[in-house]
Amino acid sequence: EAKNHSTKNYLFYTPSMTEHLLTISKFDNDLKHAIEYDEFILHYQPQINLHSNAIIGMEALVRWQHPVKGLLSPYNFIARAEETRLIIPLGLFIFKKALEQAKRWQDENFFNGIIAINISNVQIEEEDFIEQIEAIRQKIEVSALSIELEVTESSFMNNPMHSSKTLQKLENLGYKISIDDFGTGYSSLSYLKQLPLHKLKIDRSFIRDLPRDRDDQAISKAIIALGKTLELEVLAEGVETEEQKVFLIENGCDSMQGFLFAKPMSAEALESFLHQN
Ligand code: C2E
Ligand code: MG
Ligand code: MG
Ligand code: MG
Repeated sequence: EAKNHSTKNYLFYTPSMTEHLLTISKFDNDLKHAIEYDEFILHYQPQINLHSNAIIGMEALVRWQHPVKGLLSPYNFIARAEETRLIIPLGLFIFKKALEQAKRWQDENFFNGIIAINISNVQIEEEDFIEQIEAIRQKIEVSALSIELEVTESSFMNNPMHSSKTLQKLENLGYKISIDDFGTGYSSLSYLKQLPLHKLKIDRSFIRDLPRDRDDQAISKAIIALGKTLELEVLAEGVETEEQKVFLIENGCDSMQGFLFAKPMSAEALESFLHQN
């Protein structure tokens, strides 16, 4: 790559280069500070069974309540947190918060279903990931049976041996495992068969242009069929319209998540939303 660049770029040290470097390290420091000072909040989005319309799960989605920039989307900081490995402490923090919320909802008898938590592949590959989350879970006293860990295809492609062992241990402890953004990665079908999975989440990009787009029709039907064959539940992400929902029901999809039912919201907003409905 570097060979393609003009050497000129390397001879002159421009102020914008320094600026760029400073921005990055300031961002990392901000992120570190934000973890220490608890600037993260979780929003929750319901997952709906397409046949009963019951809420089967709540997915926790992190946001950064930045003192200057306002509420930041995970797209603005998760990737960098992974690069710097700050996702390790941040991920544990998210796990703890999500379980505390699940515990409150269970105690109030408000919601007793699954709490779904996104797990980065950096976390999966971390040596003591399981011990760390288990310590938190046991302290908060939430059953592993009500926790679903959302991983992506890349988390078992980098180091398949280690990751499949980790997922197997998690499954033995009672955790459910789902594959997020399914269809966008490079998972081999033989891994899918071997891994202890519970659910495939069809990526939003295949749902967006349903029912119109023929390719997306074919892809989503194929994923649903694959799920059926492997005895996995299939959830469609990013369902925004009634027409998409009808298509999914007609083609045997089990569950959905998306703005059609509810956007991700703070726990309080979700509570009043569900009381009104
Ligand atoms: P994801 O896990 O696939 O989450 C689904 C994303 O789609 C969420 O974006 C959600 O707000 C959005 N979404 C849900 N329904 C709809 C819909 O009907 N239409 C549209 N257009 N979007 C919809 P969000 O919250 O910005 O999160 C983005 C990604 O950031 C997540 O994708 C996940 O990969 C990552 N992420 C979020 N929270 C965490 C976390 O706690 N830990 C880690 N490691 N990653 C996280
Ligand atoms: Mg997810
Ligand atoms: Mg997704
Ligand atoms: Mg994702």
